[in-house]
Amino acid sequence: MEKHDKFYGSVLNFFENAAQHTNLHRGILEQIRACNSVYRMRFPIKVGKDVKVIEAYRVQHSHHRLPTKGGIRYSNHVNQEEVMALATLMSFKCAIVDVPFGGAKGGVKVNPWEYSEYELEKITRRYTTELVKRNMIGPSIDVPAPDYGTGAREMAWIYDTYRAFNEKEIDAAGCVTGKPVNQGGIRGRTEATGRGVFYGIREACNNKADMKKLGLEPGIAGKTMVVQGLGNVGSYTASICQEEGDAIIVGVSEVEGAIYDPKGIDIHKLLEFRKETGSIINYPGAKSFPKDDRKTVLEFECDILVPAALENQITIDNADRIKAKIIGEAANGPITSEGEAILLKKGKLIIPDVFLNAGGVTVSYFEWLKNLSHIRFGRMDKRFNQNTYDNFVTLVENMTGKKVNNLEREFLTKGGDEIDIVRSGLEETMVTSYNYTREIMSRKRKVTDLRTAAFVNAIEKIGSDYMAMGIFP
Ligand code: GLU
Repeated sequence: MEKHDKFYGSVLNFFENAAQHTNLHRGILEQIRACNSVYRMRFPIKVGKDVKVIEAYRVQHSHHRLPTKGGIRYSNHVNQEEVMALATLMSFKCAIVDVPFGGAKGGVKVNPWEYSEYELEKITRRYTTELVKRNMIGPSIDVPAPDYGTGAREMAWIYDTYRAFNEKEIDAAGCVTGKPVNQGGIRGRTEATGRGVFYGIREACNNKADMKKLGLEPGIAGKTMVVQGLGNVGSYTASICQEEGDAIIVGVSEVEGAIYDPKGIDIHKLLEFRKETGSIINYPGAKSFPKDDRKTVLEFECDILVPAALENQITIDNADRIKAKIIGEAANGPITSEGEAILLKKGKLIIPDVFLNAGGVTVSYFEWLKNLSHIRFGRMDKRFNQNTYDNFVTLVENMTGKKVNNLEREFLTKGGDEIDIVRSGLEETMVTSYNYTREIMSRKRKVTDLRTAAFVNAIEKIGSDYMAMGIFP
C-alpha cells in the first residue's frame, strides 16, 4: 500500500472499504479514485519591502461531470495531499446530493489573518490569473467557492479578475460561487453548510430505530450538542440547531479555548460575547478551558458532537474517550479511518462529511443555475402563486361565511422569495439524500455504517456515468 498523509490516507481507506460492496470493475474503481489533474503553482507577492513566494494548488479530482466544483482554502497547513483529499471528497459529495459536478479543491498556503486586506486581494487575484492562464476556471470548466479562510469577499475578487479576462462571456458570473448577493450571489449561501448540517442531523435523529439502538428518544429537540469551531459552518450549525431544532448547546471550542455548561449556552449571546471580548473564555456561567485543553471539548458529555473545524480531530489517540453517541461531521475529514473503526465498534452513529456538509455545494449549485439563467429565483412565479392562494382563501371564506384575520391571510398566501426557495431546495436535497443513503444499508446487509453507505452511493453513481460513456467494460 502506498504511504499517504493521515487525511488523504483515510479518504482512500474509506473509498476501499466501500468499493468492496460494489460490483464495479477494478479499472473503473481506479479511475473513480484517482485525482485527474493536480496543479501546483508558485508565485511571488510583495509584502512590505519583502517578496514572498506563495505556494498554491488546484486539484480537479474527477471530470465525469463538468464543471468541476469545490472551495478554495487559505491556511498555513495547506499541502498537496490535503487538497487532493478535499477534492476527492467533493466528487463524492456532489454525487451523493445529486449535484451534477465533478469534484475539485483549491488551496493557498497562507495564514489569512497574517496578511492585510490589500495583500490578500493581490494573492487572490494572482491565484485566479494563474488558473485563467491554465484554463482551470470558468462556468463550464471549474467553479471555485469559499472554504476555510475564504468568504464572499475573496469570491468577489475572483469573479472580477475572471471577468477582466473574459469580458464577452455572458455567463461569467458562473465562474465562482459564494459571491456577495449584489455581485451575482444567492441569498442563503452563507448559512447553507450549517443549515444543511441541521437538516441532516434532524433527519438522522428522526429515525426511530436508529435512535432506539443508541438509547435515545427520536427527534433533535432536547438533545445536547457540543460544537468544535465557531467559523462559518460551526456558528450557523449551532444557531440553527438551537433555534429551529431546539437542541441544547452545552459545549463550544475555538482557537482560544473551550467552554462547557450542561445547562445550555445561548449561542447568540456567546457570539456577541466573543465579538466584544475577542474570546469565548470566561463566558458567564460556563466552565472555561484554556487553549491547550481545548480539544478535550470533543470528550465532553453530550448526545451529539459536531466537529466543525478541520480534519484529523478524532484519531486513534482520542476516539475511545468520545462520549457523544452521534457524531455529525460538519467539517471535512474530522475523523480518521482508524478513529472511525474505534467509534463504530462502540456503536456510535457517525453522520459523514460527504453527506452532512454538502449543503454548501448544493446552494452553490443553485447560485450557478441562477447565474446561467440570469434571473433570481421566485421572480417569475411569486406574485402568481400569491394571487392564486389569495383566491383560494377568499373562496373558502365565501363558502364558509367565516373570515381569516390579516396575519393568517398573509401566512396562507405567501409566495416564495429567493431565500424561501433556496432553503426549501436545500431541505429537500438533504432529506432525500439521507434517506437514499440509509436505504443502501437496508439493501446491502454488509454495509453497516452511514459513511460506507454514502461512499457506495457515490461510487455507484460516478461508476454508472463512466459506464454510460462507454469507456469501460
Ligand atoms: N468548500 C465547501 C465544501 O467543502 C463548498 C464547496 C462549493 O460550494 O463548491 O463543500
